[in-house]
Amino acid sequence: MKIKANYVNAPQWKEVNVKSSLPEELKCLDEMAHNMWWAWNYEARDLFRDLDPVLYHDVRHNPVLLLERLSYERKEAIVKDAEMMKRINSVYKLFRDYMDVKPDSNRPSVAYFSMEYGLNQVLKIYSGGLGMLAGDYLKEASDSNVDMCAVGFLYRFGYFTQSLSMDGQQIAKYEAQNFNSLPIERQLDKDGNPLVVAVPYTNYQVHAYVWVANVGRIKLYLLDTDNEMNSEFDKPITHSLYGGDWENRLKQEILLGIGGVLTLKKLGIKKDIYHCNEGHAALCNLQRICDYIDSGLSFNQSLELVRASSLYTVHTPVPAGHDYFDEGLFGKYMSGYPAKLGITWDEFIGMGRNNPEDHSERFCMSVFACNTCQEINGVSKLHGWVSQKMFAPIWKGYYPEENHVGYVTNGVHFPTWAATEWRKLYTKYFDKNFMADQSNEKIWEAIYNVSDDEIWETRMALKNKLVDYIRGQFRDTWLKNQGDPSRVVALLERINPNALIIGFCRRFATYKRAHLLFTDLDRLSKIVNNPEHPVQFLFSGKAHPADGAGQGLIKKIYEISQRPEFLGKIIFLEDYDFQLARRLVSGVDIWMNTPTRPLEASGTSGEKAEMNGVVNLSVLDGWWLEGYREGAGWALTEKRTYQNQGYQDQLDAATIYSLLEREIIPLYYNRNEKGYSEGWIKVIKNSIAQIAPHYTMKRQLDDYYDKFYCKEAARFKVLSADDNRIAKEIAQWKEAVAERWDAINVVSAEWTVPASGAETGKEYTLRYVINEQGLDDAVGLELVNVQKDNNGEERVCNIFPFTVVGHEGNNYVFEGKVELNNAGTFNSAVRMYPKNSKLPHRQDFSYVKWLQLPNVNA
Ligand SMILES: *Cc1c(COP(=O)(O)O)cnc(C)c1O
Repeated sequence: MKIKANYVNAPQWKEVNVKSSLPEELKCLDEMAHNMWWAWNYEARDLFRDLDPVLYHDVRHNPVLLLERLSYERKEAIVKDAEMMKRINSVYKLFRDYMDVKPDSNRPSVAYFSMEYGLNQVLKIYSGGLGMLAGDYLKEASDSNVDMCAVGFLYRFGYFTQSLSMDGQQIAKYEAQNFNSLPIERQLDKDGNPLVVAVPYTNYQVHAYVWVANVGRIKLYLLDTDNEMNSEFDKPITHSLYGGDWENRLKQEILLGIGGVLTLKKLGIKKDIYHCNEGHAALCNLQRICDYIDSGLSFNQSLELVRASSLYTVHTPVPAGHDYFDEGLFGKYMSGYPAKLGITWDEFIGMGRNNPEDHSERFCMSVFACNTCQEINGVSKLHGWVSQKMFAPIWKGYYPEENHVGYVTNGVHFPTWAATEWRKLYTKYFDKNFMADQSNEKIWEAIYNVSDDEIWETRMALKNKLVDYIRGQFRDTWLKNQGDPSRVVALLERINPNALIIGFCRRFATYKRAHLLFTDLDRLSKIVNNPEHPVQFLFSGKAHPADGAGQGLIKKIYEISQRPEFLGKIIFLEDYDFQLARRLVSGVDIWMNTPTRPLEASGTSGEKAEMNGVVNLSVLDGWWLEGYREGAGWALTEKRTYQNQGYQDQLDAATIYSLLEREIIPLYYNRNEKGYSEGWIKVIKNSIAQIAPHYTMKRQLDDYYDKFYCKEAARFKVLSADDNRIAKEIAQWKEAVAERWDAINVVSAEWTVPASGAETGKEYTLRYVINEQGLDDAVGLELVNVQKDNNGEERVCNIFPFTVVGHEGNNYVFEGKVELNNAGTFNSAVRMYPKNSKLPHRQDFSYVKWLQLPNVNA
């Protein structure tokens, strides 16, 4: 027998985690590393960096990994370094003082649900704006010391990292995260074993581990199904953000909503308000209804309580952008629920349809959210209006402007997005109470007391930092991916901190119109190649891997950027993430945004720019429609001139070119002997004083409390008191009304308008007698006048409420006094609706019966 020369079996690797031991004196560093507090406190970040600057860079600013990799010698040296130890202890004291404050129990408590959270680049559980907003929200909840917790996913692969091939093709890479090196902790049960939450999926269960990200004082619970308890079909539920097919998306949304509530239950956590950030988490209300039913309430009673304590924030301005599930797929996972709820399948799936009886309509998570949340809001004033229209088909008896969809304009977490340089400057000049009173314009006005020199120095310091960052960060990848090294070097050298630098950085969705600037390349070339007044554009952003058009845009911009006349003038920076965003929003001169109106629900990156004296040039859409002030930035008109999108794009592009040529560039280069433009500094100061105070996350959080949380919590308290007495009462009343609704009828109707017709300025009386079929004064009547607006859409002009002037048995007499001030032709009808002062708004019980106007007296 021949002896084999090689004989090896395959190794069976097993993951073994060896925790590096820290000397006792440094244990506090580990505690701090495991709280994301460092993500918005530069004292802590700078401390971690200075422990070992080279290593800090290598571990991509991840303090947990830094401590894990810190060499034995380095640890010894730190302990012996008295200066360093003093610093460690003083930062630790800052941290402990912050952490030891007890939550404010005067404000309602909140459980917050979101598919993504952008807290820092280290924790890759975000893709873009929605996640950043959620991350910023938790940070502010911590700073404002409110009682909040949050639920999300710990993605194994997160969102992709982006690189570009030599011809500008986006390459998406998914890197597995090692959870043990992240600033998170495993949630244990009371026996010290990893907590496991079992989530029902029709006839089996999916098991999720729970991890905790400490966001200052706030706990963010992250579910993770990538474990040995689950089948190969269910492990990937939490693999990637917005990846996978519709089936996986449904499984994710079951996990987030239902699993999220089960997790909180298991942890013994109960909050006053349940807040769905986007429709993805709407099934949390389903689980909460089930829980109330288990406690002995009926479906209708449970729904009253769940609605009263939940809020849905919508971020997507077009119906097509929402999640829809086919009845077959939805049924595959949800068919067990009607029995639990005590309703039929059609009634259940109908809760996710505009037209509950229409079997061809798919189940829409957002519609379900609207039907199970008392309050709904968009994320800017304009987007609130867009959402009112978008959801109007759910409440057919009302016009969009009448429905209860409100808005809270998005903001950004100030300590996260204001660069350290600016924070130090603000601390020096602003009132001491600034952080607690961030929306106070008076405080921000102190920016006018800062010398122009200091403003410009701060700006230049940050521009230089950005340029250094780009040179450091991209040299290697570009040399590797983009061929010709001399070209790459030339490009890097051309980045000029003294040029007017304009940033356009965001997701590459087509509605954001990244191509707009490239409408007229000759004109653009003249702008960027003026040797006296150089201008440079930085582009950055990812396109969703399934969005071919978005990727096409990136490719097009990349190709243009490689043409000789644009090389080093138009630059595409790969892998827009948290860290690059922080550099860009503080490092450029102008932040540009050119969405198709009104598709930018809010946008937040421009607000980040505001915190850093970076000026906005943007379409009057989303937050900028509210934020823009003359002399504090530039705006593209809000009027839509052309129906044809191509013409509109050309017009908008021409507006941008001429703004640049006639106003912006001349102002920027109107430099004094010190090398800066005083006029430009004036714009910076105006924007900081007049715009920034209104777009902090502190203002946003306060708005949510003022507009929604407090109101809902107060009502919930009333409904749930005394063994849910009022909730039961309302449910019973609604049942009674629903039962009799069709039978309620008009006995007689008349009004005092003469046969010649109504005249302006005269008062007329409308009188209806309604048989309420045994209900006691349970309906209201009102005259509604509508007229077509300029777009041909019907709008409410005025409404005249009726009063009950008496009744005889079941017959209630209603009288309305009507006086018309404007001449013209209206469409008029009388609307009958269920009337009950305990309801929060009309759409809470959206029954409407339109009654005909009586003939005028002959
Ligand atoms: C702020 C931010 C966004 C969202 O910006 P928009 O203005 O809403 O497009 C997206 N990605 C990153 C990395 C961000 O920091």
